[in-house]
Amino acid sequence: MSVVSWPEEYGGRDASLLEWLVFEEEYYAAAAPVRVGQNGLFLLAPTLFAHGTAEQRDRLLPPMARADQVWAQAWSEPEAGSDLAAIRSSAARTDGGWLLSGTKTWSTRAAFADKAFGLFRSDPGAGRHRGLTYLMFDLRADGVTVRPIRQLGGETGFAARSLSQVCGADVVAGGPAADSAAARAFEAGVLAAAAQLLGTGRALLDAGVRHARQRTQFGQPIGAFQAVKHHLADVAIGLEFARPLLDAAALALAAGAATAPRDVSAAKVACADSAYRAARAALQVHGAIGYTQEHDLHLWLTKVRALAGAWGSQAWHRARVMAAIAAGGELACD
Ligand SMILES: Cc1cc2nc3c(=O)[nH]c(=O)nc-3n(C[C@H](O)[C@H](O)[C@H](O)COP(=O)(O)OP(=O)(O)OC[C@H]3O[C@@H](n4cnc5c(N)ncnc54)[C@H](O)[C@@H]3O)c2cc1C
Repeated sequence: MSVVSWPEEYGGRDASLLEWLVFEEEYYAAAAPVRVGQNGLFLLAPTLFAHGTAEQRDRLLPPMARADQVWAQAWSEPEAGSDLAAIRSSAARTDGGWLLSGTKTWSTRAAFADKAFGLFRSDPGAGRHRGLTYLMFDLRADGVTVRPIRQLGGETGFAARSLSQVCGADVVAGGPAADSAAARAFEAGVLAAAAQLLGTGRALLDAGVRHARQRTQFGQPIGAFQAVKHHLADVAIGLEFARPLLDAAALALAAGAATAPRDVSAAKVACADSAYRAARAALQVHGAIGYTQEHDLHLWLTKVRALAGAWGSQAWHRARVMAAIAAGGELACD
């Protein structure tokens, strides 16, 4: 079900970018669980469709769709966080493939994942933003050491990997194709988060309206009080105004428009702001029951904060919109 955007021959529904975003919105509105395979499904698979070989797709996509093979993403390094162009992990070509060395960290699900994909420096002389190759490797290969890292909640959500002369890595793209594959996957990921925020915000608004109709205080439903109505009306307006930005960004990205990065950032800001307003209003309208696990509200409330900060903070996306406006609409990727 999660592979709706894949071609039918790989079990998908051939959904367009816009249709996939509708699916993501509804998935989150239904408070469906986080998908263990989402790194592979949403980041690696589109890159394989654009830049992989038929052999790679036939070999890797079916077990990915069934979650028989779980993928982790390996972008971040100890010295390369926000400054991703500071990547030092290297890939050297050999007779049979590639040799990987270096350290990757903060990889979600890598503590138990089977495989990983990420960017490696394959041409050290090519400059910070160039000379990168997009490679896949086996997390159980000789030379890979996985160190699980506990997150705030106590679970081992992250892992760091040391790669010491790891053999046989599989290349997805190199040179400018690697840059564009990573950039396209990033923009699609931002848009998916925006759609998920919109769906979550909608569900929170619905829950708030439902509760305001049912809960009676001072002899009438609390929704009859104007202060409560205003809160919920503001939420409805915010969500309604965010949707056209999401749709326009999806169309721009699908068309490969030069303004797509600006539009994607504007959509993320609008969807995150309106979903956050929905979360605050829903919690306010529910009163004490909203703070409990007995009520379903927490299923959506807890997602908003995480999604709003995912795929770039609100400040980062606002800055990207500002930079694009200052540059006359378009935004250079490097
Ligand atoms: C929940 C979660 C899941 C993650 N999953 C993965 C994953 O699966 N794979 C993976 O590779 N990585 C993953 N990451 C890592 C993520 O990509 C990095 O955290 C991110 O790139 C930031 O890098 P950093 O943590 O090193 O922070 P830093 O880059 O050290 O930044 C620290 C602070 O400084 C700010 N800052 C940095 N530069 C500037 C600047 N120029 N101007 C203003 N402020 C600046 C940042 O905004 C931030 O607030 C995950 C992170 C989180 C939180």
